[in-house]
Amino acid sequence: MIAPDARTAVVDLCRGLVDRRLVVGTAGNVSVREGDLLAVSPSGVPYPELTPGTVGVHALDGAPVDAPLPPTSELALHVLAHSRPDARPGEVVLHTHAPASTALSTVVDEVPVTHYYAAFFGGAVRVAPYATFGTDALARAVLRALTDRTAALMANHGAVLIAPGVAGALDRAEYLEYVCDVALRALSTGRPPRTLDGAEIDRVRTALTDYGPGRGGAR
Ligand SMILES: [Zn+2]
Repeated sequence: MIAPDARTAVVDLCRGLVDRRLVVGTAGNVSVREGDLLAVSPSGVPYPELTPGTVGVHALDGAPVDAPLPPTSELALHVLAHSRPDARPGEVVLHTHAPASTALSTVVDEVPVTHYYAAFFGGAVRVAPYATFGTDALARAVLRALTDRTAALMANHGAVLIAPGVAGALDRAEYLEYVCDVALRALSTGRPPRTLDGAEIDRVRTALTDYGPGRGGAR
């Protein structure tokens, strides 16, 4: 059975999304993988009422193991994200409706690399085509957008982030929103933004290894 820590982590991460203004209302959802189980935020519970006991435990295929409430409507998205070929135990999947990420998802198919923090996410963040929330079609589109990346935008909807662990996960979510906010502001000038190429992002990925979120902060 999953440790209480994973359920507590889901509650703390959900509250962190609210505190950092990355979600509104009951939007957004979180999952934490521990071994071959997932702790997943429940559907429609106001964040102030979330407790570890309301967080469901599911198998990696999404089947409930100990889930007192219905899971988030985006369970399929979490299941597929945790099933990536390079997925690891301990990973966290965060889904937000952060405003800059969401706004940018309506005007580009890929986030222009206007800031080197794109390296945190493996390079230019892709925008998964729109599909209705909670559908398998949306989950599959997001999985494709996550190829070789740890973040994706969901067109006209929000953002998804994969973090290697609970520590630093919320910081990474904020970096993603920051990267999107910078790109959005640059695009709003009407001038084509100057962007960084893949070779530079590879250099930055190497340089950031010791300075990424959860490792003492970014430069
Ligand atoms: Zn959503």
